[in-house]
Order: sequence, then C-alpha cells, then structure tokens
Amino acid sequence: MKPIRTFNVSPSLPPKLEPLKKLAYNIHWDWNVETKDLFRRLDNQLWESCRHNPVALLGNISQSRLAEVAEDEGFIAQMERAEEQLDLYLQERNWFRKNRQQALGEECYAYFCAEYGLTDCLPLYSGGLGVLAGDHLKSASDLGLPLIAVGLLYQEGYFSQYLNADGWQQEAYPISDFSNMPLHLERKSDGSELRVEVDYPGRTVIARVWRIDVGGVRLYLLDTNIEGNSEYDHNITDRLYGGDLDMRIHQEMMLGIGGFRALKALGYTPTVFHLNEGHSAFLVLERMRRLIEDDGLSFEEAKQMVQASQMFTTHTPVSAGFDMFNPDQTMYYVGHYADIFGLSREEFLAMGRENTGDLSSPFSMAALALRTSSFLNGVSKLHGEVSRDMFKGMWKGLPVSEVPITSITNGTHARSVVAKSTQQLYDRYLGPNWSDKGPDDPLWEKVNAIPDDELWRNHERARADMVVMVRDWLGKKLRQRGASQAELDKATEVLDPNVLTIGFARRFATYKRATLFLRDIDRIKKIIMGNPDRRLQFVIAGKAHPKDMPGKELIRQLIHIAREEGIEEYLVFVPDYDTHVARAMVSGCDIWLNTPRRPREASGTSGMKAAMNGLPNLSVLDGWWDEADYTATGWAIGQGEIYEDQHYQDEVEANALYDLLEQEILPLFYDRDANGVPRGWVQKMKNAIRLNIPQFNTARMLRDYSVYGYFPSSDRYFAMTENNYANTKAVAQWKKQVFERWYDIRIESIDVSEETDIVVNETIEVKAVLDLAGLKPDDVSVELYLGKLNSNGEIVNGTPIPMEHTGETTSAGVTYKGSLVYRASGLQGLSLRVLPKNQYMAHPHELGLILWADDK
Ligand SMILES: *Cc1c(COP(=O)(O)O)cnc(C)c1O
Repeated sequence: MKPIRTFNVSPSLPPKLEPLKKLAYNIHWDWNVETKDLFRRLDNQLWESCRHNPVALLGNISQSRLAEVAEDEGFIAQMERAEEQLDLYLQERNWFRKNRQQALGEECYAYFCAEYGLTDCLPLYSGGLGVLAGDHLKSASDLGLPLIAVGLLYQEGYFSQYLNADGWQQEAYPISDFSNMPLHLERKSDGSELRVEVDYPGRTVIARVWRIDVGGVRLYLLDTNIEGNSEYDHNITDRLYGGDLDMRIHQEMMLGIGGFRALKALGYTPTVFHLNEGHSAFLVLERMRRLIEDDGLSFEEAKQMVQASQMFTTHTPVSAGFDMFNPDQTMYYVGHYADIFGLSREEFLAMGRENTGDLSSPFSMAALALRTSSFLNGVSKLHGEVSRDMFKGMWKGLPVSEVPITSITNGTHARSVVAKSTQQLYDRYLGPNWSDKGPDDPLWEKVNAIPDDELWRNHERARADMVVMVRDWLGKKLRQRGASQAELDKATEVLDPNVLTIGFARRFATYKRATLFLRDIDRIKKIIMGNPDRRLQFVIAGKAHPKDMPGKELIRQLIHIAREEGIEEYLVFVPDYDTHVARAMVSGCDIWLNTPRRPREASGTSGMKAAMNGLPNLSVLDGWWDEADYTATGWAIGQGEIYEDQHYQDEVEANALYDLLEQEILPLFYDRDANGVPRGWVQKMKNAIRLNIPQFNTARMLRDYSVYGYFPSSDRYFAMTENNYANTKAVAQWKKQVFERWYDIRIESIDVSEETDIVVNETIEVKAVLDLAGLKPDDVSVELYLGKLNSNGEIVNGTPIPMEHTGETTSAGVTYKGSLVYRASGLQGLSLRVLPKNQYMAHPHELGLILWADDK
C-alpha cells in the first residue's frame, strides 16, 4: 500500500529535556563517554535495541519515562553537564588556530570518501577505509581544522552478516530510516530541500543532501532515493559497493561530481580537495569544467589549478584493488567532459591511464587522482614504498625512491576506541589531555607510574565485560535466525573470563589468512587445551565480501573446526562485526593477532585500537606494525620475509606463531606474582600504551596531513588564484614551454677534475655545459647524482647534489658547477641529471620530466 502522504514525526520532548536533542544530533556523543552514559541512563534496553542511536531512542522512548527523568534532578544535572561539555568542546578546539596563524585567507579543506565508519548506528562503511575516514573527521574536529567532508548516504549501507546453521555467511540489508538517525536534511532559505543535479547519459539525476555533525566537522551525504529519479537512479545510493561496474560508475559520478556541486550549492569554496581513495576522482572533471566555463581558464590552466590544491591518499597495495572502467564505458558516462576540455578521446582517456601509450588499457580512478594531485601518500611507511614501486611507471626515468608518493601512517581515534574505564584510568594518571598528545610529550613517561595491579584489574574487568557482551550478542544473533534452544544455551557458556584471549577481527579476504593459526590442528589444540591452568581462547569476527566465496569458505571452515574438534567454547566467531563489536574486542582481549601476507595490509588499524587499550600485538611485520616497536609492545611473526611459495610461507609462519605462543606468550601471561598480577605482561601493556597511543593516533595523523598536505596545498591555492589566476596562467604557460623544449635540451660537456682513481674524502669538481634549448637557467635544476653501483652497473639509491649556475653563458651553452666528495670506498658511480624547477610546483616531478646524462 502506498501512503497518500508521508510525515516526518520528530520526538516530543518536555521543554526541560530539549538539550537532549542537541546532544543526540551531534555525534560527539560517540566519543564522549559521559554523554553516552546519559542516553544509556534514559533506557538501557532501548539504547541497546536501537543500536546506540540516541535519535531513535528519543523517538521511541515512552512519554512517561521522559516525564519521569524531567523530574529527576540527578539526570538533569548530568544532562546539563553533557551540554556544557559539548559547548566547551566546540569552542576549545584550538590546535589549528594556534598552528596556522599565517593562513593567506579563509581556508576550507574538502575531504571526499566513499564510506565513513563513525559509529555503529550509521552503517555507512564496510571496513578499514571507512573507519579510518570516520576517525579522520573526529580528529579534524578535535584539532579544530576547517574541514568538511562529502560522501554518499546509503539506504541499505553495507550488509549485516549472519551465519546459517552450516556456518555459511548470509547477508541482510536492513533499510535505514534516515528520519530516525542523527542526520539533518539540508534546506534552502525558503525551506525547500536543497538538491543537486548530475548529468548521466540521457537524463539528469537529482540528489538531496543530508548532514551529520561530527563535533565541529560537517559531513555531507548525497541521497538519490527520492521522487523524480527513475527506479535505477534511486538505487545509486542504495548499497555501499553494491551492484556491477555500471552501478559503480554511477555511484562514483554522484560522489565526485554531485559532491562537488553540493559543496558549491552549500556555499563552500574549498582551498584544498583531499581524495581519500580514488572513488571520488571524477570530481577533478567537474572542478576543471567550472574553472573553464566560469572562470575562463584553458584546459592546461584548469589542470594546473586543480593539481596545485589537490591531495590523494591511496589505501591499496595491489593494482587490481583500484577501480578501473573500460574505455568505452568511461566515454559513455563522462565523455562529455572531453568536449568541454577540447580533448580527443585518447587525450581524455590518457588522464586516467597509468601507461598513456597503451590505448587498450582501462581508465583507472587511481591514475586520474595521481595525475591531478600534487600531494600523494600511502598509509604506512611500507605501503608508501609499495605504492612508489607500483606506480613508478608513471614517472619514467625517476629512481623508485624518488617517486613522489610519500606516506602518512594511519591512526585511530583514541577517545572512540579506548574502553570507558580505561579512559578514566588514563585521565587519572596522565591527565585529561593524553588522547591527542604526540610522541614527544613528557606525559607519556607517567604511564610507568600507573600501579601494575590497577592497570591489570582494569583490564581483567574489560575482559569479563567482553565475555558478557559476546555471549549476549551471540544469543541475540542466534535468536534472530531462529536457532535451537540447545544452540542458545551453548552461547551462554562460550569463553572463560580468566583465560588468555586472542582477538582477530578483520575482513575475511584470503590474503589475511584468518585460519593460519589452525594450520596444525593438533598443535593448536594442545596449546588451547593442553594445560588446564594455562589455557588459550580465540575471539574472531569479520565479514567476507558478498561475492568472495573463498573468504566465506574460511568462515565456514572456522565454525566447522570449532565444532568438530570440540573447542567451540575456546574458538568463538562473533557475527556481524561492526564498530561496537570491535570496541568490545580491542579492549577485552589480551592480544591482537594479525597474519596477512606481507605486504598486502596497507596499514591495518584494529591493532592500533587494541594497543591503545594496552594490548600487545602479535603480527606479521606488515602495515603499521612493521614500523612500530614490535619487540617492546608485542611480538613479530617472522622478520618481514616475502615468500614465493605460499604453502611454504604458511608453514613457516604458522610454526613461528605456535613457537611464540608456547615459549613466550603463555608463560609470560600466566607468570603471576603473589597478588595474581603478571608483572612482565603488564610491562608490555604499559609499553604499548606509552609508545603506540601517541604514534598511531589520528591526532598525530591529522597534524601530519595538515603540516605536509593541507597547509602547503592551501598556500598554493591562494598563490594560484590571486589576481585572477595570474600565477596559474603563468605556470601553465611555463609548463607548456618546458614540455615543448625539454627533449631538445643537450648536455654538451661534463668535465670532472679527477681521474677514475680517487680516495675517500677527496673533493671532486664537476663542470657541465648545457644547451637549454631556449629555457632559462632558473627553469631547471641541474644535479649531480652519485652512489654505489649494483651488479648491473647502475647507481642505486643515489644521492642528488644540486649544481650551481655560474652565470657564464657561452656559445656552447650555460655552465653549471658542483663539487662532491665520496665518503665511502668501493666502486662508486656518478651521473648528472636535469629536472624542471618552479617555485609553484609541489615537487620537481609534477611534470614527470627528467633528463639523465646518459639518455642520449
Ligand atoms: C577498525 C575496524 C576495521 C579495520 O580494521 P583493520 O585492522 O584495518 O582490518 C574494520 N571494521 C571495523 C568495524 C573496525 O572497527
């Protein structure tokens, strides 16, 4: 039955309780434990059943309960305190104000991502990327950055997981009721809905815009599920990563193009665009179109303007992980931009091709983003290295170590992931500001002053809480699928709150090897059950992508092994992993396990969450763990080897894991003093807290993004826009000229003062004469390049040394001189290279041009 009208019914609160609405609609409550407690106090059962959604809670709570609390002075006092805290929070976020006094104008950083994991009642994420983006917004808010964010509002979001009786993953797509979520619908001044339009082949699709207030940061989400759109177009914002490649391109057009238009309609003028993964890269096209049509720039100028102020973060360590569209498909959907830009089909497609010469290659969103951004980064040091190697083909002739993709290691938002009682403990011993202090802050020394037994008792409570949570959660999920009473009874007995507990939770992709620890079943069974006083148990969670059959098979195997081996009590799979389950696990387990195939884990963040709760990590050296102090704060499985033979690798690494469990981990955990405190273990916990919280924290991450990315990009934005884009035009013109003349540059002569035999620390003078083909000496930097030779006679990991322009110009060309000293003996190589130079380039490799002495 179709309704004749629809109403948006909002909760009716007694006037005294009005502040609850304000609190509910800013998800600051998600990381403010007191506000969360306030909602829980209203109605604990309802709070749980509406998935910790305060808007739904206020909408469904009985009027009599509201009347009751309105007269409860204790409650009113707590509510007023929560309101004060929110007001104070919004005023006091001042890292940005203090550290960015020299901004050249009003700044605005626009952050684009396809998913956001903020809190469990907003199922707009699938996993790590989304949670990272959510934490990015929370920390941007904490630091007071002028950041706004854009995404899509998925009606069904990502699926919710349940297992059938055989352990096979089933997917359900609960429909979100936006009017009962902490969302605001954006309206125009006349009260009508704000709408944006995006052109698709043969039609225009409209979207409305919702807003989530994340502390002081606004997240705008587009929603096409509205009247006026076709059935197909309704579904553009239906499911996260749902549908086929055609649906994907529809979604990405809405995110990039629609998202850009939404910001315009809302009155924003971003000074930086930050693409978090490539899904939103079509925004480049729309941004360039506006610069061309509205501001009269040429294609080259528009590209220059876009690049100067755009950042791109990649999260993928394998090239197959990026979105690619075939050439015809790309032209069908966004080919009209080629006409606007005045480009031929191949010229246009080249914007998104890794290898522009390969006309059959697909259009890659990552290549588009890489080519049009000036700040590029991976998400851990190792992933930066992997990314430089993966994309080195886009910077021909450049040594891989100089490929301009840097890294900013991911983090996690401390106040969101540390258990309440543990936060309070840190507040007591470290003071209230620990959650965003950096590694150099002296307060971290105070961690050692936390009494061992207090930290330990607190952790034991967290473990007991997790056991209760897991039992309840399992029961709830089993009831939902109509499980038998026997199964329900069993669920109430899983896990032992006093046993060493290993947590493992992540997407069930095969490269993550969730079942590696089960490789030798007899051995692991012996470790689990062999000694009744030193038992071990596993809590496991994670979803497999709906189309990933091998991933689903792993979950099924796990369930079967637990049953068939009689270890169901000690090997527990928690279905429907989400931020709520994650928070319980990362605080209540004792160790966090990770066994990916290096280097497939770009960063990983759940281990950081665990470390923030004082858990040691036990992991293959991959992602963030590779750069952590893995001896002081946990254990490394292997030493970072990369194997050809996967079977052999599994064998070696499973054995290394068993050895660590038997010889180090179990003994350390169960070695208790007279008070039952495992002193050695607690020391590792303290190390994890002291070393990993400040380092792997989104506060540190956002400071890095600000200093290395947002600030300089914003500076370039202002430099490029002033005087009606004067510098943009000049740089675009300059780049064109450099391109035209580059291949005519000649290195006429190189004079080296010494012969081939020299001694360490001897100074060598080099003089070079270059024909710059009409370019000015200031247009290029000429560099000596020296380093050890490898077995192929090539310089590897060389060091560039700038040469100086002598001011001398002869008929042969322009003279440069430089000097160098070899500090080590052995066979050393010397070369010379030329790079374009311009103060407005973010790095010398923006044009991808480099000339080496031996090139001709
Ligand atoms: C933290 C988190 C992730 C990401 O964890 P990884 O270790 O990066 O795989 C995924 N899902 C949820 C619900 C999380 O909380």
